[in-house]
Amino acid sequence: MSYPDTRNNEQYPAYQLVKTRLQKQLDNGSTQCDLCLWRCKMVHGQRGFCQAHVNRHGTLYNLSYGIISAIDIGPIDDKPVRHYRPGSQVMSVGSYGCNFRCKGCHNLDISWGVTALDDLARGQSTSAYVTPRQLVDTAKRFGVEGIAFTYSEPAVWLEYVLDVSALAKEAGLYTVYVSNSFVTQEALAEMAPYVDVLCSDIKSLSNDFYKDLCPVANVEQVLACIEQAKQLGIHVEVRTNVIPTKNDDPDELENIAVWIRDHLGADCPWHITKFFPAYKLSHLPATPNELLWKARDRARNAGLSNVYVYGDKGCDCATDNLPIDHFLQGDPQEIHRVKKCAASCCGSDGVVLKKYELRGSD
Ligand code: SF4
Ligand code: SF4
Repeated sequence: MSYPDTRNNEQYPAYQLVKTRLQKQLDNGSTQCDLCLWRCKMVHGQRGFCQAHVNRHGTLYNLSYGIISAIDIGPIDDKPVRHYRPGSQVMSVGSYGCNFRCKGCHNLDISWGVTALDDLARGQSTSAYVTPRQLVDTAKRFGVEGIAFTYSEPAVWLEYVLDVSALAKEAGLYTVYVSNSFVTQEALAEMAPYVDVLCSDIKSLSNDFYKDLCPVANVEQVLACIEQAKQLGIHVEVRTNVIPTKNDDPDELENIAVWIRDHLGADCPWHITKFFPAYKLSHLPATPNELLWKARDRARNAGLSNVYVYGDKGCDCATDNLPIDHFLQGDPQEIHRVKKCAASCCGSDGVVLKKYELRGSD
Protein backbone atom coordinates (compact mmCIF):
# COMPACT_ATOMS: atom_id res chain seq x y z
CA MET A 1 0.00 0.00 0.00
CA SER A 2 1.50 3.41 -0.86
CA TYR A 3 0.74 6.75 0.71
CA PRO A 4 1.30 10.33 -0.42
CA ASP A 5 4.49 11.85 0.93
CA THR A 6 3.17 14.60 3.17
CA ARG A 7 6.41 15.59 4.76
CA ASN A 8 7.18 18.79 2.93
CA ASN A 9 3.82 20.41 2.80
CA GLU A 10 0.81 21.04 4.94
CA GLN A 11 -1.40 18.35 3.54
CA TYR A 12 -3.62 18.49 6.58
CA PRO A 13 -4.14 22.16 7.53
CA ALA A 14 -7.08 21.16 9.73
CA TYR A 15 -7.73 18.10 11.89
CA GLN A 16 -8.66 14.99 10.03
CA LEU A 17 -8.10 11.27 10.20
CA VAL A 18 -4.83 10.28 8.51
CA LYS A 19 -4.13 6.83 7.09
CA THR A 20 -2.18 4.57 9.41
CA ARG A 21 1.31 4.39 8.00
CA LEU A 22 1.82 0.63 8.29
CA GLN A 23 -1.19 -1.58 7.64
CA LYS A 24 -2.17 -4.59 5.64
CA GLN A 25 -5.48 -6.11 4.71
CA LEU A 26 -5.89 -9.74 5.73
CA ASP A 27 -7.76 -12.51 3.96
CA ASN A 28 -10.36 -12.72 6.72
CA GLY A 29 -11.54 -9.16 6.01
CA SER A 30 -9.78 -7.48 8.91
CA THR A 31 -6.90 -5.01 8.59
CA GLN A 32 -3.73 -5.32 10.62
CA CYS A 33 -1.85 -2.38 12.09
CA ASP A 34 1.92 -2.91 11.96
CA LEU A 35 3.06 0.11 13.95
CA CYS A 36 3.67 -1.78 17.16
CA LEU A 37 4.00 -5.40 18.16
CA TRP A 38 0.39 -5.70 19.18
CA ARG A 39 -0.26 -5.95 15.41
CA CYS A 40 -3.96 -5.32 16.13
CA LYS A 41 -6.40 -6.83 13.65
CA MET A 42 -9.47 -4.66 13.27
CA VAL A 43 -12.71 -4.77 11.35
CA HIS A 44 -14.81 -1.78 10.38
CA GLY A 45 -15.59 0.39 13.38
CA GLN A 46 -13.02 -1.15 15.68
CA ARG A 47 -10.16 0.64 17.31
CA GLY A 48 -6.82 -0.95 18.22
CA PHE A 49 -5.54 -1.54 21.73
CA CYS A 50 -4.05 1.96 21.91
CA GLN A 51 -7.46 3.38 20.86
CA ALA A 52 -5.69 5.78 18.49
CA HIS A 53 -6.22 3.81 15.25
CA VAL A 54 -9.58 2.92 13.77
CA ASN A 55 -10.73 0.74 10.89
CA ARG A 56 -13.14 2.45 8.53
CA HIS A 57 -14.36 0.22 5.73
CA GLY A 58 -11.13 -1.79 5.67
CA THR A 59 -8.63 1.06 5.92
CA LEU A 60 -6.95 2.08 9.17
CA TYR A 61 -6.70 5.72 10.22
CA ASN A 62 -4.89 7.51 13.01
CA LEU A 63 -7.26 9.56 15.15
CA SER A 64 -4.56 11.59 16.86
CA TYR A 65 -2.49 13.00 13.98
CA GLY A 66 -1.49 16.52 15.03
CA ILE A 67 -3.36 16.33 18.32
CA ILE A 68 -1.07 17.53 21.10
CA SER A 69 -1.55 16.50 24.72
CA ALA A 70 1.45 18.23 26.30
CA ILE A 71 4.44 20.44 25.50
CA ASP A 72 7.46 21.35 27.59
CA ILE A 73 10.90 22.81 27.09
CA GLY A 74 13.96 21.77 29.06
CA PRO A 75 17.39 20.18 28.82
CA ILE A 76 17.74 16.92 26.88
CA ASP A 77 19.39 15.52 30.01
CA ASP A 78 15.89 15.28 31.59
CA LYS A 79 14.54 12.80 29.00
CA PRO A 80 16.99 11.29 30.23
CA VAL A 81 19.66 11.50 27.51
CA ARG A 82 23.21 12.38 28.55
CA HIS A 83 25.47 11.56 25.62
CA TYR A 84 23.81 13.40 22.76
CA ARG A 85 24.13 17.19 22.67
CA PRO A 86 24.27 17.39 26.49
CA GLY A 87 22.84 20.58 27.97
CA SER A 88 20.93 21.50 24.83
CA GLN A 89 17.29 22.53 25.10
CA VAL A 90 14.66 20.26 23.62
CA MET A 91 10.94 20.75 23.09
CA SER A 92 9.04 17.70 24.35
CA VAL A 93 5.66 16.89 22.81
CA GLY A 94 3.20 14.06 23.16
CA SER A 95 -0.23 12.91 22.10
CA TYR A 96 -2.85 10.49 23.36
CA GLY A 97 -2.63 6.70 23.24
CA CYS A 98 -0.19 4.09 24.49
CA ASN A 99 0.32 0.42 23.69
CA PHE A 100 1.13 -0.46 27.32
CA ARG A 101 -0.94 -0.20 30.50
CA CYS A 102 1.71 0.28 33.18
CA LYS A 103 0.21 0.11 36.64
CA GLY A 104 2.54 2.84 37.88
CA CYS A 105 2.13 5.24 34.94
CA HIS A 106 2.24 8.90 35.98
CA ASN A 107 0.81 10.17 32.70
CA LEU A 108 -2.49 8.25 32.57
CA ASP A 109 -4.69 11.09 31.32
CA ILE A 110 -2.47 11.74 28.36
CA SER A 111 -0.71 8.42 27.81
CA TRP A 112 -3.75 6.18 27.79
CA GLY A 113 -5.82 9.20 26.84
CA VAL A 114 -9.06 7.25 26.96
CA THR A 115 -11.35 10.27 27.36
CA ALA A 116 -9.43 12.39 24.88
CA LEU A 117 -9.47 9.66 22.22
CA ASP A 118 -13.16 8.99 22.79
CA ASP A 119 -13.82 12.70 22.29
CA LEU A 120 -11.91 12.60 19.01
CA ALA A 121 -13.89 9.54 17.94
CA ARG A 122 -17.13 11.36 18.70
CA GLY A 123 -16.06 14.53 16.91
CA GLN A 124 -16.23 16.41 20.23
CA SER A 125 -12.56 16.99 20.99
CA THR A 126 -11.27 20.43 21.94
CA SER A 127 -7.63 19.29 22.06
CA ALA A 128 -5.11 21.43 20.21
CA TYR A 129 -4.38 20.54 16.58
CA VAL A 130 -0.91 21.60 15.44
CA THR A 131 0.38 20.94 11.93
CA PRO A 132 3.94 19.58 11.57
CA ARG A 133 5.08 22.93 10.17
CA GLN A 134 3.50 24.81 13.08
CA LEU A 135 5.19 22.52 15.58
CA VAL A 136 8.63 22.96 14.03
CA ASP A 137 8.07 26.73 13.82
CA THR A 138 7.15 26.69 17.53
CA ALA A 139 10.38 24.87 18.35
CA LYS A 140 12.39 27.41 16.36
CA ARG A 141 10.57 30.31 17.99
CA PHE A 142 11.55 29.02 21.44
CA GLY A 143 15.15 28.57 20.32
CA VAL A 144 15.44 24.87 21.14
CA GLU A 145 17.85 22.55 19.33
CA GLY A 146 15.64 19.48 19.15
CA ILE A 147 12.17 17.95 19.44
CA ALA A 148 11.45 14.94 21.68
CA PHE A 149 8.41 12.69 21.22
CA THR A 150 7.53 11.48 24.68
CA TYR A 151 4.86 11.23 27.45
CA SER A 152 3.17 8.26 25.73
CA GLU A 153 4.39 5.74 23.14
CA PRO A 154 5.31 7.61 19.92
CA ALA A 155 4.87 4.46 17.80
CA VAL A 156 1.11 4.91 17.94
CA TRP A 157 1.60 8.46 16.58
CA LEU A 158 4.14 7.50 13.91
CA GLU A 159 2.43 9.29 11.02
CA TYR A 160 2.84 12.63 12.78
CA VAL A 161 6.24 11.80 14.27
CA LEU A 162 7.62 11.13 10.79
CA ASP A 163 6.16 14.28 9.24
CA VAL A 164 7.42 16.48 12.08
CA SER A 165 10.82 14.80 12.11
CA ALA A 166 11.38 15.29 8.39
CA LEU A 167 10.64 19.01 8.74
CA ALA A 168 12.72 19.19 11.92
CA LYS A 169 15.73 17.80 10.05
CA GLU A 170 15.31 20.44 7.34
CA ALA A 171 15.21 23.10 10.06
CA GLY A 172 18.42 21.80 11.66
CA LEU A 173 16.74 20.32 14.73
CA TYR A 174 17.55 16.92 16.19
CA THR A 175 14.83 14.44 17.19
CA VAL A 176 14.47 12.19 20.23
CA TYR A 177 12.12 9.23 20.51
CA VAL A 178 11.28 8.16 24.08
CA SER A 179 9.84 4.67 23.86
CA ASN A 180 8.93 1.40 25.53
CA SER A 181 10.35 -0.26 22.36
CA PHE A 182 7.39 -2.55 21.80
CA VAL A 183 7.68 -1.48 18.19
CA THR A 184 7.78 -3.40 14.91
CA GLN A 185 10.90 -3.70 12.78
CA GLU A 186 8.99 -2.01 9.98
CA ALA A 187 8.18 1.02 12.13
CA LEU A 188 11.78 1.27 13.30
CA ALA A 189 13.00 1.15 9.72
CA GLU A 190 10.61 4.02 8.84
CA MET A 191 11.83 6.05 11.79
CA ALA A 192 15.53 5.46 11.45
CA PRO A 193 16.30 8.12 8.79
CA TYR A 194 14.56 10.81 10.84
CA VAL A 195 15.23 9.93 14.49
CA ASP A 196 18.58 10.81 16.04
CA VAL A 197 18.11 9.39 19.53
CA LEU A 198 16.16 6.50 21.02
CA CYS A 199 15.72 6.73 24.77
CA SER A 200 14.21 3.35 25.59
CA ASP A 201 12.97 1.64 28.68
CA ILE A 202 14.21 -1.79 29.65
CA LYS A 203 11.60 -2.21 32.31
CA SER A 204 12.72 -5.65 33.44
CA LEU A 205 14.18 -8.89 32.11
CA SER A 206 11.14 -10.80 33.34
CA ASN A 207 8.42 -11.84 30.93
CA ASP A 208 5.96 -11.87 33.83
CA PHE A 209 6.73 -8.23 34.50
CA TYR A 210 6.08 -7.30 30.86
CA LYS A 211 2.93 -9.42 30.60
CA ASP A 212 1.52 -7.46 33.51
CA LEU A 213 1.80 -4.25 31.44
CA CYS A 214 0.93 -5.71 28.11
CA PRO A 215 -0.36 -9.29 27.80
CA VAL A 216 1.18 -9.87 24.37
CA ALA A 217 4.65 -8.48 25.15
CA ASN A 218 7.79 -10.38 25.93
CA VAL A 219 11.26 -9.24 26.85
CA GLU A 220 13.00 -10.67 23.81
CA GLN A 221 10.88 -8.56 21.47
CA VAL A 222 11.69 -5.39 23.38
CA LEU A 223 15.41 -6.13 23.52
CA ALA A 224 15.49 -7.02 19.82
CA CYS A 225 13.88 -3.68 18.99
CA ILE A 226 16.46 -1.73 21.01
CA GLU A 227 19.32 -3.65 19.40
CA GLN A 228 17.88 -3.08 15.95
CA ALA A 229 17.68 0.66 16.61
CA LYS A 230 21.39 0.70 17.35
CA GLN A 231 22.12 -1.32 14.22
CA LEU A 232 20.12 1.22 12.23
CA GLY A 233 22.48 3.94 13.42
CA ILE A 234 20.25 5.60 16.01
CA HIS A 235 21.98 6.86 19.15
CA VAL A 236 20.55 4.65 21.92
CA GLU A 237 20.32 5.24 25.66
CA VAL A 238 18.31 3.06 28.03
CA ARG A 239 16.45 3.57 31.27
CA THR A 240 15.14 1.32 34.04
CA ASN A 241 12.68 2.59 36.61
CA VAL A 242 13.32 0.46 39.69
CA ILE A 243 10.06 -0.43 41.43
CA PRO A 244 10.19 -1.94 44.94
CA THR A 245 9.18 -5.62 44.99
CA LYS A 246 8.56 -5.61 41.21
CA ASN A 247 11.92 -5.33 39.45
CA ASP A 248 14.34 -4.47 42.24
CA ASP A 249 16.25 -7.75 42.48
CA PRO A 250 19.96 -6.75 42.34
CA ASP A 251 20.86 -9.83 40.31
CA GLU A 252 18.24 -9.00 37.68
CA LEU A 253 19.39 -5.38 37.57
CA GLU A 254 22.95 -6.55 37.05
CA ASN A 255 21.72 -8.80 34.25
CA ILE A 256 20.20 -5.75 32.55
CA ALA A 257 23.60 -4.07 32.76
CA VAL A 258 25.27 -7.16 31.29
CA TRP A 259 22.78 -7.24 28.43
CA ILE A 260 23.42 -3.57 27.68
CA ARG A 261 27.19 -4.14 27.77
CA ASP A 262 27.01 -7.14 25.45
CA HIS A 263 24.44 -5.84 22.95
CA LEU A 264 24.69 -2.04 22.99
CA GLY A 265 28.28 -1.57 24.14
CA ALA A 266 30.01 -0.93 27.46
CA ASP A 267 29.71 2.83 26.91
CA CYS A 268 25.94 2.82 26.30
CA PRO A 269 24.34 5.08 28.93
CA TRP A 270 22.03 3.37 31.44
CA HIS A 271 19.71 5.61 33.46
CA ILE A 272 18.44 4.16 36.73
CA THR A 273 15.42 6.10 37.96
CA LYS A 274 13.46 6.13 41.17
CA PHE A 275 9.88 4.89 41.34
CA PHE A 276 7.33 7.21 42.92
CA PRO A 277 3.94 5.75 43.92
CA ALA A 278 1.19 6.23 41.34
CA TYR A 279 -2.13 4.77 40.21
CA LYS A 280 -2.37 1.02 40.94
CA LEU A 281 1.06 0.99 42.55
CA SER A 282 0.20 3.73 45.03
CA HIS A 283 0.56 1.26 47.89
CA LEU A 284 4.28 0.76 47.17
CA PRO A 285 6.95 2.98 48.72
CA ALA A 286 9.28 5.15 46.66
CA THR A 287 12.48 3.30 45.78
CA PRO A 288 15.14 3.63 48.50
CA ASN A 289 18.13 5.46 47.05
CA GLU A 290 20.49 2.81 48.44
CA LEU A 291 18.96 0.30 46.04
CA LEU A 292 19.66 2.59 43.09
CA TRP A 293 23.28 3.10 44.14
CA LYS A 294 23.69 -0.63 44.59
CA ALA A 295 22.41 -1.27 41.07
CA ARG A 296 24.83 1.36 39.75
CA ASP A 297 27.79 -0.22 41.56
CA ARG A 298 27.00 -3.67 40.23
CA ALA A 299 26.59 -2.31 36.72
CA ARG A 300 29.97 -0.59 36.94
CA ASN A 301 31.53 -3.79 38.23
CA ALA A 302 30.02 -5.56 35.25
CA GLY A 303 31.85 -3.16 32.97
CA LEU A 304 29.22 -0.56 32.10
CA SER A 305 30.94 2.81 32.10
CA ASN A 306 28.09 5.34 31.88
CA VAL A 307 25.56 4.60 34.60
CA TYR A 308 23.42 7.44 35.97
CA VAL A 309 21.24 7.38 39.06
CA TYR A 310 18.28 9.71 39.56
CA GLY A 311 17.40 9.71 43.24
CA ASP A 312 14.94 12.59 42.88
CA LYS A 313 13.32 11.92 39.52
CA GLY A 314 11.23 9.16 38.02
CA CYS A 315 9.58 9.35 34.64
CA ASP A 316 9.47 12.00 31.94
CA CYS A 317 6.15 13.25 33.35
CA ALA A 318 3.96 16.02 31.99
CA THR A 319 2.19 16.76 35.27
CA ASP A 320 4.02 20.04 35.92
CA ASN A 321 3.99 21.31 32.34
CA LEU A 322 2.68 24.75 31.44
CA PRO A 323 -0.61 24.74 29.50
CA ILE A 324 -0.19 24.06 25.79
CA ASP A 325 -1.54 27.51 24.95
CA HIS A 326 1.58 29.03 26.49
CA PHE A 327 3.59 27.63 23.59
CA LEU A 328 1.20 28.09 20.69
CA GLN A 329 0.44 31.25 18.79
CA GLY A 330 -3.11 32.17 17.92
CA ASP A 331 -6.48 32.67 19.51
CA PRO A 332 -7.01 30.05 22.28
CA GLN A 333 -10.67 29.79 21.31
CA GLU A 334 -9.64 28.84 17.80
CA ILE A 335 -7.00 26.39 19.06
CA HIS A 336 -9.61 24.65 21.20
CA ARG A 337 -12.44 24.77 18.70
CA VAL A 338 -14.30 21.43 18.54
CA LYS A 339 -12.50 19.07 16.15
CA LYS A 340 -14.35 17.18 13.49
CA CYS A 341 -12.62 15.28 10.74
CA ALA A 342 -12.08 17.61 7.78
CA ALA A 343 -12.09 14.82 5.20
CA SER A 344 -15.25 14.32 3.17
CA CYS A 345 -14.94 10.60 2.54
CA CYS A 346 -17.76 9.69 4.92
CA GLY A 347 -20.29 11.26 2.56
CA SER A 348 -23.79 11.62 3.90
CA ASP A 349 -22.93 9.40 6.85
CA GLY A 350 -21.17 12.35 8.42
CA VAL A 351 -18.31 11.52 10.68
CA VAL A 352 -18.07 7.77 10.36
CA LEU A 353 -16.56 7.54 13.78
CA LYS A 354 -19.98 8.23 15.17
CA LYS A 355 -20.77 4.79 13.84
CA TYR A 356 -18.07 3.45 16.04
CA GLU A 357 -19.86 4.92 19.01
CA LEU A 358 -23.13 3.40 17.85
CA ARG A 359 -21.43 0.05 17.40
CA GLY A 360 -19.77 0.46 20.77
CA SER A 361 -23.17 0.86 22.44
CA ASP A 362 -24.77 -2.02 20.55
S1 SF4 B 1 -0.29 1.18 17.27
FE1 SF4 B 1 -0.13 -0.85 18.24
S2 SF4 B 1 -1.80 -0.89 19.75
FE2 SF4 B 1 -2.24 0.81 18.32
S3 SF4 B 1 -3.59 -0.09 16.74
FE3 SF4 B 1 -1.45 -0.23 15.99
S4 SF4 B 1 -0.76 -2.29 16.61
FE4 SF4 B 1 -2.59 -1.79 17.86
S1 SF4 C 1 4.61 4.26 31.72
FE1 SF4 C 1 5.02 4.74 29.54
S2 SF4 C 1 4.68 2.81 28.45
FE2 SF4 C 1 3.71 2.61 30.46
S3 SF4 C 1 1.54 3.22 30.13
FE3 SF4 C 1 2.66 5.05 30.82
S4 SF4 C 1 3.29 6.07 28.92
FE4 SF4 C 1 2.74 3.95 28.37
